[in-house]
Amino acid sequence: MIQRKDINILLVDDRSENLFALEKLLKTPGLNIVKASSGNEALSLALEYDFALVLMDVQMPDMDGFETAELMRGAEETKHVPIIFVTAINKEQKHVFKGYESGAVDYLFKPLDPDILLAKVNMFLELHRQKLALKQANESLGEANRKILEQQKSLVEEERLKVLLQMAGATAHELNSPLMGLIGSIEMMELERDNLDQLYIHADNAKKAGERISEIVNRMQNIRRDETVPYTGDFQIIQFDQKVKVLSVEDNVADFARLKEILDTEESIELHHAHDLKTTFSELEANSYDVILLDHVLGENTGEDFLKEVAPKGIEIPIIVITGQGDEILASRMIRAGASGYIPKRELSRSILIREIQQAMEKTRLQKEVRLVQQKLADMSTRDGLTNLFNRRYFNEVLEREFSRSERYGTTFSLCMMDLDFFKNVNDTHGHPAGDKVLKETARLLESSFRKGDVVCRYGGEEFAAILQRADVEEACIACEAFRKAFEKHTIEHDGARLQLTVSIGVQTYDKKRTKTLEDMIHSADKALYKAKNSGRNRVMGNI
Ligand code: GH3
Ligand code: MG
Ligand code: MG
Repeated sequence: MIQRKDINILLVDDRSENLFALEKLLKTPGLNIVKASSGNEALSLALEYDFALVLMDVQMPDMDGFETAELMRGAEETKHVPIIFVTAINKEQKHVFKGYESGAVDYLFKPLDPDILLAKVNMFLELHRQKLALKQANESLGEANRKILEQQKSLVEEERLKVLLQMAGATAHELNSPLMGLIGSIEMMELERDNLDQLYIHADNAKKAGERISEIVNRMQNIRRDETVPYTGDFQIIQFDQKVKVLSVEDNVADFARLKEILDTEESIELHHAHDLKTTFSELEANSYDVILLDHVLGENTGEDFLKEVAPKGIEIPIIVITGQGDEILASRMIRAGASGYIPKRELSRSILIREIQQAMEKTRLQKEVRLVQQKLADMSTRDGLTNLFNRRYFNEVLEREFSRSERYGTTFSLCMMDLDFFKNVNDTHGHPAGDKVLKETARLLESSFRKGDVVCRYGGEEFAAILQRADVEEACIACEAFRKAFEKHTIEHDGARLQLTVSIGVQTYDKKRTKTLEDMIHSADKALYKAKNSGRNRVMGNI
C-alpha cells in the first residue's frame, strides 16, 4: 500500500468547480492538495513546493496549460515535475502531441474515469516517494562516507603520534647502553690518566660509544624527516612536483578519451591506459604507478574482481573507482574491498580528479608510514611478545656491557643458559597453547626466583638465559639450583591437565683467563648446559 505522507500534488484549473471535483476524488490522508486557478499561479506555487505531480487543465485564459508546462520545463527547479493534462475539449491528435511536446507525461480526457485517474496518480506518487527515499539514502551514504574518511584521517594521525611516542621511549632505552659506556670510559680515563696505554684503550671505547650514539640519533632524524611528516588535515601535503603516473583501467574507448581530455592539460599527471585486467597486471609488473583509476564494468570482469585479485598480492597503489550513475552502494562495497576512493562518472572533472588523486595518495602514504614505523618499532623492541621477558637482542646488549665492565674493572658475573626438558612432549601431547602457557609461567617463575638486578630473558623457543651481576660460579649455581627446584615442584594447569616439567641449566662465570671473548663465554655456558642434559637432565652444571 502506498504511504502518501507529506506528498504535495498541484491541481490547475481556471474553473473552481473542476478543482473541487478533482480534490474530492483524490483526497487522502497524508496527501497535500494544492490548487491553482491560473498558469501564473501554478508557476509560482511550483517554485514554492516540491510537487510529486501536477494535474493541469489545458484551456485556461491568459496562459494555457501547454504554455505553463513549457515554462515549467524551462526552469531548473521545476523541470522534473511530472505533468498530466486533463481536458474536456482538446481531444484531437495534434493537441495530444502538443501536450507531450510541452513535457506532459500523460493526457487524460473528461469525463474522467476515477479508477484510471487514481491508478495513474498513485503511480506518480509512488515514484516520487521512491525518489525521496533514494535521495535520503544518498545523502546519508554521502554523510557516512565523509565520516569514515574523517575517522580514518584521525585514526592514522593518532596511530602515528602513538608510534612516535613509543619510538621516543625505545630510543631513550637504546641510547642508554652506549651512553653508560661513554661515561664509564671517561671515568676510566680520569682514573688511569697516568697509564698512556690504558688511556688509548679508553679513548677508543669512548669513540665507539659516541659513534653508536650518533648512529642512533641519525636514524631517528631520518625517521622524522622522511617518514613522519605531520598530517595537517588538508590534502596539500603531496605536492605534484614529480609527475604522478596514473593508470586508467577502462574498457570503454570513449570513456578513456574523456578522461584523457580532462587530464590532458594537467602537466603533473602522466596518464596510461589498460583496457582489461590482464593488461593491467602486466602493466603493474612492468611499471610503477602512483594511482589506478578503475572503471567498474570491464567487459566480462568488474572492478571488484580486480580488487579481489589485487588484495592478496599486496599492491600498495591507491585505487580510485569510477562508478556509474549514483551508485554509492557499489562504491561503498568497493571501498570495503580495498579501494581508496570513488568518483561517480557524471562528476568527472579536472578538479575532482586531482582532489581524489591527492587524497588517495595521501591516504596510502599515511598507511605505509604507520606500517613502516611499526616495523621499526618492532625492530627496536626489547621484549619478547609471548613471555614479556627481555628478548635476545636486548640480552646480548647487556651481556656485552657486563663483559666489558668485567674486563675493565676486573669484576665478575655469571651467564646461565636454561633449556626446558622434553618440552616438545607438552606440545605433542597437549597442544601448542599448552606449550605457550608453560613458557609464560616459566617466565613468571624466573622473574620471581632471580634478584631484581639480574637480567632474565627468553633466549629462543624454550630456552631462557640469565645474567647474574657480580655472582661467582658458586653463587650462580645456588641461585639456579633454587630455581630448578621451584620449577620441578611447580604444576601448570591447562584444560584440566596438570603439567610438571624440569629444566637443565649450564652456568659459566666470567674468568679473565678462560673466557677471553664474549663468544668463549656463551660457548662455555652452552657446553655446561649440554653436559647437564647428557648427564640425566633436571640439573645445574657449572663451569669453573
Ligand atoms: P630436550 O630435553 O632435549 O631439551 O627436549 P625438548 O623437547 O625440550 O627439545 P626440542 O628442542 O626438541 O624441542 C623444543 C620444542 O619447543 C620444539 C618447538 O616446537 C617448541 N617451541 C619453540 N618455541 C615455542 C613456542 O613459542 N611455543 C610453543 N608452544 N612451543 C615452542
Ligand atoms: Mg631446546
Ligand atoms: Mg628442551
